[in-house]
Amino acid sequence: LVRLRGVEKHFGDLHVLRGIDLDVMRGEVVVLLGPSGSGKSTLCRTINALEGIDAGEIRIDGTPLPTTGAELARLRADVAMVFQSFNLFAHKTVLENVTLGPVRVRGLAPDDAADRALALLDRVGVRSQADKHPSQLSGGQQQRVAIARALAMDPKVILFDEPTSALDPEMVQEVLEVMLGLAQDGMTMLVVTHEMTFARRAAHRVVFMDEGRVVEEGSPADFFAHPATERARAFLSGRP
Ligand code: ATP
Ligand code: MG
Repeated sequence: LVRLRGVEKHFGDLHVLRGIDLDVMRGEVVVLLGPSGSGKSTLCRTINALEGIDAGEIRIDGTPLPTTGAELARLRADVAMVFQSFNLFAHKTVLENVTLGPVRVRGLAPDDAADRALALLDRVGVRSQADKHPSQLSGGQQQRVAIARALAMDPKVILFDEPTSALDPEMVQEVLEVMLGLAQDGMTMLVVTHEMTFARRAAHRVVFMDEGRVVEEGSPADFFAHPATERARAFLSGRP
C-alpha cells in the first residue's frame, strides 16, 4: 500500500534520509524505531507530502505522490497523520474537528459527517466531550479526538508520530488501547513510538532506522530477542 524506494532528503548540508526502501502492506502494522535524529519524523512527513523529497519515489496504492492542491488534500485524507502534539483546531469544538475534513475533502453532507463523527468519538471513548473545545480536554482525550479525526477521513493508512510522547503517564495507556484496537481491526498503520510493549503486541514488523537508513527489520519477536546489529542492540539497551 505504501512503497518507498531510494528516498533521499537533505536539510541544507544535513543528509537526513539516505536511500530509504520501505513497504507497508495493506492491513499491516509497522513500528518504526530509532534514536533521536535518525529521521523517523521526516520519513513520516514525506509519506503524506508534508516534506518533499530530493530523490527516489513514494507510491501510495501504486500512485506517485501528487504535488497540487486538491490532490494533496485527498492524499492527506488517504494518508492520515497523528502527531505528538495533537494538532487539533483550538477554536473548533471536538465534533467540528472531526467533521470538517470529511465535509470539505470527502464531500460528505454535514449531517452524515456528524453522525459518523459521533460514532467515531464513541469508538475512542470521548463522545460525551463532543461539544467542548480541545483545551477543555485532557491530553489523552485530545489525542483520542485526533485519532477519531484521522479515522473520519476513511484513510488507507494512518501514520502515528510518537502519539503518546507528550502525554502524562496515566494517559498513555488509554491512547495505546485505542491504537491496539485499530490494529486488531486491520487498519494499516506506520507507528513511530518508544512504547516497546505496544510494538510487541501490535506490530507485524519492526523497522529500525539509524542516521537516515533502515538498518534492520524483522518481526517484533526476532527483533527484540535477537537484534542483528550493534546499533539496534545499543538502542534497545538504552545506550546512546
Ligand atoms: P526524534 O526521535 O527526536 O523525534 P527523528 O528520528 O524523528 O528524531 P527527525 O525529526 O526526522 O528525527 O530529524 C532528523 C534530522 O533532521 C535531525 O538532525 C533534525 O535536526 C533534522 N531536521 C528535521 N526537520 C528539519 C527541518 N525542517 N529543517 C532542518 N533540519 C531538520
Ligand atoms: Mg521525531
